[in-house]
Amino acid sequence: MQRRQFIKAGCATIAAIGIHPFSSAKALTRKCGVKTPPLNVRRKVEGQLKAFRMHSMSMLTNKKIVIPIHYHIIHAGSEGKISEKDIAAQTDVLNKDLQPYGITFTQKAVDYYDNEDWYVADMIDHVKAKLGKDPTSCLNFYSSGLLQSGLLGYATFPWDKKDLGLMDGVVCNASTFPNGEEPYNLGRTATHEVGHWLGLFHTFQDGCSGNGDEVADTIAHDQPDYGCPSQSKQQACDGKSFSPLNNFMNYSDDQCLTELSEGQMARIKEMVGKYRPEFLVAGNDAPTTSPVASESGYQSITGEGSSDTVIGGGSEGTFAITE
Ligand SMILES: [Zn+2]
Repeated sequence: MQRRQFIKAGCATIAAIGIHPFSSAKALTRKCGVKTPPLNVRRKVEGQLKAFRMHSMSMLTNKKIVIPIHYHIIHAGSEGKISEKDIAAQTDVLNKDLQPYGITFTQKAVDYYDNEDWYVADMIDHVKAKLGKDPTSCLNFYSSGLLQSGLLGYATFPWDKKDLGLMDGVVCNASTFPNGEEPYNLGRTATHEVGHWLGLFHTFQDGCSGNGDEVADTIAHDQPDYGCPSQSKQQACDGKSFSPLNNFMNYSDDQCLTELSEGQMARIKEMVGKYRPEFLVAGNDAPTTSPVASESGYQSITGEGSSDTVIGGGSEGTFAITE
C-alpha cells in the first residue's frame, strides 16, 4: 500500500516525516504509561501473593513458563507496518532477555490493521476489545504509533486480567521494535512492558518511601534513569549505592537494559502461578533449546483493517499516564 502524504485523525497532522516505517512525530524519551494501582489494590495483591507463597508454591514445581504471543500490528499505510522479520526479531529479543529467567515466548499469530485513526491515537484501549484474543490463550501484544501521548508503551497487570478480559495485554510504540528509532530500537521496551504484564513495578516505584517495587533485592531509588551508565549515575535512596541502571524495569536506553534481579524473577513466578497459571507447562524451567529455532514460524497473517473504521466506546480511563 502506498504511503499517504498526510496522516490526519484530529490530533495530529504529520506531513513529510519520511518514509521510514518507524517514523514518529517527535523525539522519543522513555515514558511508560502503566497505571499505579491504588493502595488498597496493592495491599490485596500482596496479600494474595503471600498466601500463594505459603500454600501453593508446589504448583510451580517442575513447571516452566511458556507464553504464546499474538501480535496486533496497527499501522497507517507503510507507517508502523513492522515487517515479519522485525516481529520475529522482537520475539527473539524477549527470549534472549527473559529465557535466562525461565520464561519462553512463542509466536502464535500476527495480524495487521491498516487504520490511520488508530495509529495516531495516543492510546489504543478503545480498539483492544475489538482486536484482542482470549487472554488465557496468549499475550495480546499491540503495536501502534501512540503519537500524541509520546509513550513508548504501556501494559496491564496480571491481577487485573479477570476484570479486563480482552483489554489485557501489552502495547508498544511501533518505533521500539528492533530496527526502530535509537536509542530504543533494540526491542527492550517490550521486555519492560512484559515485565509489567507479569507483575513487576518500576524499580523507582514509590521513590524513597512506601513499599517501592515490592521486591527486596532491587535497590530503591527516587527517579528513573535515562541514557546509559556512562551518562547517568544516580544515587539510590540509601545514599551509598547507585540505582539499578541495567534493570529492565528502569528507564535506561535499550542497550543498557540487561537484567532482572532474583527477587523480580521469584515475583514473576508467583504472579504467573497465581494469576496466569495457563502459561505454566510441564518441564524443567531451565530451558535447553531455543524456542525461536523450534517454532515453525507464523501461524497466520490476517485481518487487514479498514482505515475508515472508527470504533468508539472502549474502556478509556483503564490506564493513566503516570508521568
Ligand atoms: Zn513501565
